[in-house]
Amino acid sequence: MRGRVLIAVVLGVPLAVVTAAAILFAMAYAAPAHAPSSVIRVALPSTRGEVGLPKIQGPADASRPLVVIDAGHGGHDPGASGQRGEKEKALTLALALSLREALLADGRVRVALTRDEDRFLALEERSGIARRLKADLFVSIHADASESPDATGATVYTLSDRGSDAVADAVAKRENKADTVNGVELGGKSDAVTAILVSLSQREMRERSKAFGALVLREGQAAVRFHKDPEREAAFVVLKSLDLPSALIEAGYISSPDDARALSSPEWRRGFAKAVASAIEIYLARTNLVAAAP
Ligand SMILES: [Zn+2]
Repeated sequence: MRGRVLIAVVLGVPLAVVTAAAILFAMAYAAPAHAPSSVIRVALPSTRGEVGLPKIQGPADASRPLVVIDAGHGGHDPGASGQRGEKEKALTLALALSLREALLADGRVRVALTRDEDRFLALEERSGIARRLKADLFVSIHADASESPDATGATVYTLSDRGSDAVADAVAKRENKADTVNGVELGGKSDAVTAILVSLSQREMRERSKAFGALVLREGQAAVRFHKDPEREAAFVVLKSLDLPSALIEAGYISSPDDARALSSPEWRRGFAKAVASAIEIYLARTNLVAAAP
């Protein structure tokens, strides 16, 4: 018995080695010539052209300015949570729906929502929708969260290359986590001239975005309680690739019981929506007048 086992081992081991070598050889040479072995291809969810464009609502006149409202998070990404189980993704959707309602009631501008249900959208898909629809303004709605129970109130963020402070950086980091992989900038901007043009255009858009942010603060004074430092800049991926004025509004702190209660109240949301709608309408009316001037 022992002799047979030994023979089997003696014959079997080299056989296994040869088989393994043959398999490895086949794997190496069966690969297509254009795929060098040093390149690792990872299938990422496509962000281009896959998402259907949302319906544009409001006046039928296509020359009316268009605002795209983006309810933050959604689907498998719940965003931040409140102490009583409030979910940011649900509050942002409710706020976006209220805002659409307010804008449609006024009938001055056209509106589209990146999502009107509980579904996931990658950050680039959100700004991609605004770009593909040739929107005049992009407004992303979120709810803030903080370890500190004292943190309350709304904040309007516009894009900067770097955050305006450590807090802004932390908020941007948290909101950007939703899709870090897709959030990595597209790259390939090696041409120095292109870089300068892009930077000039972005500076212009940053100024316009700030002008819109200032209007949100002004129009929201009565209905919205703002954070003590309500106007900030941060590096939000969702605003990054946009060549149009844009802002991210953190409507309040979901981590603060007072704010979470307000955010959960349809009445409070109507007040918020009215104020932001008014800021949107004034901003778009102004920029349209500027564009129409000779
Ligand atoms: Zn958020």
